[in-house]
Amino acid sequence: MENNKKQLTSDELLEKIFYCMERLFEENELSGALHLLTELGKALVNSDRASFWFWDKKKHEIWTMAALDISKITIPENTGLVGAAIMNNELLVINDPYNDPRFNSDVDKSSGYVTKSILTVPVTNSEGKVIGAYQAVNKLDENGMDSAFNETDIKRIKLATAFCGRTLESYLLYNESIEDQLTGLKNRRGLYIHYEKFIAPILASKKASIIICDIDHFKRVNDTWGHNAGDAVLKHVANTYLGLVGIDDGIFRWGGEEFIMLLPGKDLTQAAEFAEHCRKTIEASVCHFEDLEIKVTMSFGVSELNADLDTAENVKDADAKLYYAKENGRNRVIHTLP
Ligand code: GH3
Ligand code: MG
Ligand code: MG
Repeated sequence: MENNKKQLTSDELLEKIFYCMERLFEENELSGALHLLTELGKALVNSDRASFWFWDKKKHEIWTMAALDISKITIPENTGLVGAAIMNNELLVINDPYNDPRFNSDVDKSSGYVTKSILTVPVTNSEGKVIGAYQAVNKLDENGMDSAFNETDIKRIKLATAFCGRTLESYLLYNESIEDQLTGLKNRRGLYIHYEKFIAPILASKKASIIICDIDHFKRVNDTWGHNAGDAVLKHVANTYLGLVGIDDGIFRWGGEEFIMLLPGKDLTQAAEFAEHCRKTIEASVCHFEDLEIKVTMSFGVSELNADLDTAENVKDADAKLYYAKENGRNRVIHTLP
């Protein structure tokens, strides 16, 4: 990474803009794209540091992933200048932060860094809603000495924030399209993408397995206690499995009350053992909904993934075993058909 504290000449800056834009079009990872945009913003205003902050509205947090020269930081959404810029959709130029009550000096205290000037710009989506903030810290003059952010910096930083906004928006829309709204798990489309990216490439050298499972008599839950109770059970099952699967494994809502787990590194026997563990865990667990205590069981089909079959064919193979489990009493794991 370039660490030149001197201000770029106009020609150098123009070159930098073209360099970042060109690479941006080739970049398909969000982290890479934001890294480029952060680098661009830093060059545009000649600051010592720059960071792009995400607003996680669900968790009420803001966090940064593309901060140059610093590692990931998460803070509550209403703290610090980034929080203020995000919550009020307001551009903030502070050239004396230690005397500004909105400045949160905790990060400086733990890192030893001294913040002298800050430019914070809200980042909006195409509807004008705030989705994050861009922050440049410690403006440097042409000799690399501490200086103050000015009107030119504000104009220039807006170029970087506009691109950041569109980049983040397309990432958020993409993520939404592969996520199940109710459980927060990846959906069927997410499974196909995950499979192509992380499972198919390893099958030549490594075993991997699939578990498909389905809640038994789930229709009765809806019929007896209503649809909201059914939704609570689905969330309960999703959360229970999330607590059981390993970090490399994937869990997906395949549809309705059916879930799929993809387990790289597990052969058929190991996957069947894991499925049995899942089955027992669900059977022993209770879903609390309003004043109800709802208990469910699940049926499981387990297959080792076959590299010669595509995603859908592998799912179908496990699904045949799930069907057999349903036909033969439910609340059981089937990993081989008779
Ligand atoms: P089996 O043991 O054979 O799987 O019986 P089942 O009742 O679980 O299966 P069936 O396919 O007859 O019913 C599934 C039900 O799941 C019907 C559908 O209304 C319900 N369902 C699907 N998606 C959702 C959802 O998102 N929320 C709720 N509450 N119910 C859902
Ligand atoms: Mg069912
Ligand atoms: Mg079903």
